[in-house]
Amino acid sequence: MQTTEKLFYKEPFTREFKATVVDVSKNMLVLDKTLFFPQGGYQEYDNGVLTKGDALARVNTVSDENGVVYHQVDSPELFAVGDEVEGRIDWDRRWYLSTLHSAQHVISRIVFNLYKVYTTRSDFSVNGGMVSFSVNFSNDWIEPVEVELMKIAEKALPVERLFDGANISIKIADLDTSPCGGTHVTTTADLGSVYLLGTDKGKLLFDGGGPGTLRLKKYGREHFRIRKMYNFPDDVLKTVEDNINTLNDMDTALEKYKREAFSNALKDETLVRQVKGIKVSVIKNDELDTKIFKKLIKMKDTVYTSDLYLISIDKKIIAYAATDAVSAIDVCAGLINESLGVTGGGNRKKVDMMLERGNFQAIVDGVLSKIEGSV
Ligand SMILES: [Zn+2]
Repeated sequence: MQTTEKLFYKEPFTREFKATVVDVSKNMLVLDKTLFFPQGGYQEYDNGVLTKGDALARVNTVSDENGVVYHQVDSPELFAVGDEVEGRIDWDRRWYLSTLHSAQHVISRIVFNLYKVYTTRSDFSVNGGMVSFSVNFSNDWIEPVEVELMKIAEKALPVERLFDGANISIKIADLDTSPCGGTHVTTTADLGSVYLLGTDKGKLLFDGGGPGTLRLKKYGREHFRIRKMYNFPDDVLKTVEDNINTLNDMDTALEKYKREAFSNALKDETLVRQVKGIKVSVIKNDELDTKIFKKLIKMKDTVYTSDLYLISIDKKIIAYAATDAVSAIDVCAGLINESLGVTGGGNRKKVDMMLERGNFQAIVDGVLSKIEGSV
């Protein structure tokens, strides 16, 4: 049978293609060309779909035998030799596997440079990446290797595919060139989310990018590392996950409580004046937490950068502007000081002192007349 044209090398970042069916046998489909990367070089195959008009078949596994790429599909009866089909690969899966693969090249180079140890095998699947070396990978190496990996990620070195007519290799700037038939990312910047999980029987486990990053977010790095390393029975894992879920629920409840406290606080808000776009509001609320207020006011529907809040809490007056571009303290404290005839610019100490004298209303009035006078 004619060998399949490998579009995944010609167009490594294309996700869709058109092709002609050249063979159908059992549940295997052979096309004249394909973007589906077959199992090879320890990298797991692509998934995706093949369509003919409205008919759609899922591509479950892909293999290469002597240059012929076989697509194992779930509905082979939809296709006949000569059919024009369209293919779409599962890009998230491809990109994830490419991220792991490129990360392995970099990790292998770092480990060689630091410890003069050779890579003997690697694996990339939807469950993460693994590398074995000529000696057991030491847990003491995890941190130094990861530090180097992040440095290289920051440099955004180009990852290029070289073909000399017979052999393919992957060149990562001046760092590394290795023979490789896998798929890769565009630059080492794409490896910024890769992390080293730990070791298992002397092999290095790593993950990151796509589902790896999602797993990390869900479980947290340490939890994930422990989970992988110690292979806990399901009931132990379930208990741990239940506890994490409880903590997450508590976080959600706390967030809800903060929002409620905030909207309650805003019930006490009084718009005291609006002059030429400057809105001055006063809030008197002894329950209010300033930190929460500052965090949550950004969620308010209509907050303008010109909004000034004078908040009376616990004998203090807090000035707040809903923007980081202006220092609310400087603006308001300056206005407050000036309104009370105090010179020398604003500072919080003076503001606090003023309020302790119990003249919050005087300060508010002063600020208002100051604003009115200045516009
Ligand atoms: Zn490779």
